[in-house]
Amino acid sequence: MANVVGNIPIFETKSQYNLLRKEIDTAIERVLERSFFVLGEECSAFEKEFAEYLGVKHVFGVANGTDAIQLALMACGVGSGDEVITTPQTALFTLLAISATGAKPVLVDIDPDTGLINPELIEAAITHRTKAIVPVHLYGQSADLDPIVQIANNYSLFIVEDSCQAHGTTYKGKYTGTIGHVGTYSFYPSKNLGCYGDGGAVVTNDSEIADRLVRLRNGGQRERYNHELMGLNSRLDEIQAAILRVKLPHLKAWNLARRERAALYNRLLEGLPLETPLEKGYGQHIYHLYVLKLSSTIVRNTFQIYLKELGIGTGIHYPIPAHLQIAYEWLGLGKGSLPQVEDTADRIISLPIFPELPLEHVEYIAESIQNFPF
Ligand SMILES: *Cc1c(COP(=O)(O)O)cnc(C)c1O
Repeated sequence: MANVVGNIPIFETKSQYNLLRKEIDTAIERVLERSFFVLGEECSAFEKEFAEYLGVKHVFGVANGTDAIQLALMACGVGSGDEVITTPQTALFTLLAISATGAKPVLVDIDPDTGLINPELIEAAITHRTKAIVPVHLYGQSADLDPIVQIANNYSLFIVEDSCQAHGTTYKGKYTGTIGHVGTYSFYPSKNLGCYGDGGAVVTNDSEIADRLVRLRNGGQRERYNHELMGLNSRLDEIQAAILRVKLPHLKAWNLARRERAALYNRLLEGLPLETPLEKGYGQHIYHLYVLKLSSTIVRNTFQIYLKELGIGTGIHYPIPAHLQIAYEWLGLGKGSLPQVEDTADRIISLPIFPELPLEHVEYIAESIQNFPF
């Protein structure tokens, strides 16, 4: 058994700060010296650099990922009375962003092998009110976009990709977020590209959508004091943008480091009564989260406590599917209405994963799991 001292958290940011400390401190100081804090040159520069990275025409820095989704939908004209199709297996913020536009989230069950929205179930959920589909690239793996694009074309719907867990995920050689009409990102500290507070971005290749976004994130103003739209007040601040500019050049290497850790877990956990994450052949998973699915014979709570006692942090993403949240009781979808996500939610568990996680820790975690009395 590999020797490990101390606790292994599911995620931490301090190691990364230690590696980049000088550059980050310099970047923050640069903003403080300039003393210009909102919609200045750091935000513009980051937008340009992230656009280059993604190969997309327009990037708008916004306050967080939830606002990014709301703004993207608003820019597509989604509002009160409309319906937006999405998945029940996501951070609830995806749904909250849909609701904030006045539209109703319509939930479609998942593919139990991946946790991603099942494209085969989308068409049956479309009504005359449906305006958009929000696929979520959950855990860092792309949803299967080709069939979704096909449906969206057939019914003239917008696609807003929730890429908040997928900074660098690919689908058939393209980055997620750049395939639908609009893509949305979060830079919450735990994301693969994270700042030191809240941050987000909306990306698009569509110049009309971009022309609305530039106003919508800034109170609907194109010029100061001239409000053309009822927008939000949602901007990526200069300090966060400066931090993201330091981090962006490392994103590719960090995602590779996550993939290396995931591959090691996969190899060491083979043959146990659990499913390791399935990577679909259509693109690269960037393992924002490494999520196991336990066999239904295993009591997850016991498994989680066993790991905790060995100093191993775990998480559950997510324990309660969207339709079973109290906030969404009004959708009228009771228990049993979305069986795949309900079964999956009871069996998943997330293991520690981040680029700086020592490989010996992955070995220790995997060996601890091998020794669990299944
Ligand atoms: C993090 C996240 C969000 C929300 O992003 P915030 O920046 O926290 O507002 C939305 N959707 C998904 C899938 C996320 O993981």
